[in-house]
Parts: sequence; C-alpha cells; structure tokens
Amino acid sequence: MSAATPHLLPGATLGVLGGGQLGRMFAHAAQRMGYFTAVLDPDADSPAGRVSHHHIHTDYTDIDGLARLAGLADAITTEFENVPAPSLEHLAVARPVAPGAASVAIAQDRIREKAHFIRCGVACAPHAVIETAAHLAAVADDLLPGILKTARLGYDGKGQQRVATREALAAAWDATGGVPCVLEKLLPLDFECSVIVARGQDGQMVHLPAQRNLHRDGILAVTEVHPDNMPARQAELAVQSTRSIAEGLRYVGVLCVEYFVLADGSMVVNEMAPRPHNSGHWSMDACDVSQFELQVRTLAGLPLTAPRQHSPAVMLNLLGDLWFGAGDDTTAVEPPWADVLALPGTHLHLYGKTTARRGRKMGHLNITGTDIDAVRATADFAAAVLG
Ligand code: ADP
Ligand code: MG
Repeated sequence: MSAATPHLLPGATLGVLGGGQLGRMFAHAAQRMGYFTAVLDPDADSPAGRVSHHHIHTDYTDIDGLARLAGLADAITTEFENVPAPSLEHLAVARPVAPGAASVAIAQDRIREKAHFIRCGVACAPHAVIETAAHLAAVADDLLPGILKTARLGYDGKGQQRVATREALAAAWDATGGVPCVLEKLLPLDFECSVIVARGQDGQMVHLPAQRNLHRDGILAVTEVHPDNMPARQAELAVQSTRSIAEGLRYVGVLCVEYFVLADGSMVVNEMAPRPHNSGHWSMDACDVSQFELQVRTLAGLPLTAPRQHSPAVMLNLLGDLWFGAGDDTTAVEPPWADVLALPGTHLHLYGKTTARRGRKMGHLNITGTDIDAVRATADFAAAVLG
C-alpha cells in the first residue's frame, strides 16, 4: 500500500479474503465503525460470510470471484495466512491490499519466516531445513529429540511430528511425502508468549501488551494478560523483537509473533501470523482498542492510537470438545452458557459454526475484573462449569 493511499472513511467497503472467525470479528469491528464489508470464502456457511454485507462464494483463486471482491471493496485484507499469495498480488493491481503478498508469502513458509527472523536479529530455535535426502543425512545429532514441521500449511499443531531418533526422523519426513520441512530442536519451555503489533501505511506502529499463552495438544487453550504475567525483561524483549520483525517487512496491518521462553530464561521466536491472532482476542473486552479495530484502522489508513488495557484478562478458548460428553462424538449438546454468564466479568464470543468437532475452535470466553486473582478464580470456575 503506498503512503499516498487516501483514508477510507466510514461508508466505504472493506473486503476480506477468508470467512473464518477472524474475518467475522473483523467484519463486526468494521461494521461497528460504519463500514460495509465484503467476504470471499468458498463456504456458503462461513462464520464471516454470514455476518457480512456481501459474501462471494468462490475459491480463493477464482479470477471472477477476486474481480467481484475488488469491484465491491475499497481495500482488502486477509484473515488466514494460507490464502494464496498470488491472489493477493492479483487484487493489489486493482485495490490497496494489506498486509501485502510479500509479507504473507514469508509467513506462509517456515523456512523463509526463520530466515526473516534471523535477518532481523531475533533468535530462533536451533533448526535445520530439510528439502532433500542430503539435508536429511546432514542433520546434526544435537537437534534430536526434535519436532519435524512441514514448511507450509501447518496450524494448530497439524503438520508436526515429534522425533527422537534419526530413524524416526527419516520415517517422519517420508510420511510428509518428502515436502520441504524444518526440524526444530525440542526445547524445554518455561512458558509461551506472543505480541501483536499494528503498523500503518505511514510506518506508525502500536502494540498490545505481551500475552502469556498456554497451549494444549498444540492448540492455544488459555491467554492471560496483566502487568505481572511475565518478567518485564522478557515482555520488553518480545515487544522490541516484534516491532523489528514488522519493520523489517515494512508491514502494513496487524501482525502477531509467538515466542518460547526457555527454562534458562532465554527467549526464541517461534512463528508469526500476518493477521489478528487467537492470543489477541482478550483485547475485545479488556482494551479500549481491540486487535480487530486495529486491523480496520490499518486497512482504512486511519490514525493508530496506542491500545490501553483497562482490565486484567483471561481468555479461554472454547473448542468443539465442550459440545460432547466424554468419549461420545455423536450427540452434540450446547454447553451451559447461562451458568457461565452468571459469573461476573464473563464475555462470551461464539463464531456461529453450525457443527461442533473435537479440536475445532467454536468460540472463546473473555474474563475481566478488577484484579487478576479474581479474574483467574472466575476463569477456573467457568472452566469447571464447562467441564
Ligand atoms: P502451529 O503453526 O501449529 O501453531 P507451532 O510451531 O506454533 O505450530 O507449534 C505448536 C505448539 O507446539 C507450540 O505452541 C508449542 O507449544 C509446541 N512446540 C512447537 N515447537 C516446539 C519446540 N521446538 N520445542 C518445544 N515445543 C514446541
Ligand atoms: Mg503456533
């Protein structure tokens, strides 16, 4: 997007490639501010498509669908990183697109992503790129035990295999079909954290406070944000590193970068997402500017104001598992929302997905309050109610 792009004021139409929950929450934020929205997603029932003024049901690479999106929208963003970069390039001929195809292409490929982190002076986990049998043979023994990750198309722990021996590594790479991969050393994690920045067309950048994240089975389960959620030194390093990574891309839009803090207190970067992120959902209820409003502002070229957190926050992800009893995947039962909403400071967000599946992100629960101990106690109680 060029610096000369004019502000798009409310009344304009903002487009998004992808109709998942992130697109839905973007559409809600945009509509609240008086924008119209257009979503392109192949699923007629997509969470964002169902709440958008316009819904184009085509594949992400459909030239006619992309042309219709460009015809409707004054500027276009994306809500998931596996959207084909060529589609963004194609749209960018007709309309401002943020983030740009070049940034998205780097975030889509763990090999290029790690190279970018290193270029920005941000430390990664020890790793090796495996694209050929020769690379496989040359892997250093001290990378094992490790995690083999496909370079592309992984999310929520998918596309990853833990390997302890060279034989297991060879078998795991074979099982991927020999696609480009990264082998990462399995690190002793103390905790995980992430930082979200928003960078405008003019280079102005603001950030949300560092978020402490708990994953279960490779999927985000809980995010906690309050001033003492991690040592200040690590929070500051994570913020500075994220700003450098965004600056290095000359990024426009909302960017999330995830980090591992190791048992010895050192920190390495894990990965980035060129969009709002699950770990930033707490900002919808505990901040005066949410990550989705920041996405609207960056896309529309509006001023960015530094977000101010006005409440400690705990976010609990609501996975499809909550809809099923133990061991029963056949009958879906609606969780006891009334009991959860009876607790003070609970904010329910459901994404309008019609079918619950184990591991599927169905919604999240934000919990706010005057102090973190009370918020945590409510979160524990809510988790117990939900079973
Ligand atoms: P995804 O793209 O699926 O989110 P990640 O690379 O972020 O994949 O990995 C998912 C989770 O697996 C991480 O949040 C972390 O809990 C764990 N994990 C990933 N890489 C490592 C590693 N090198 N050492 C220890 N744990 C890891
Ligand atoms: Mg991750």
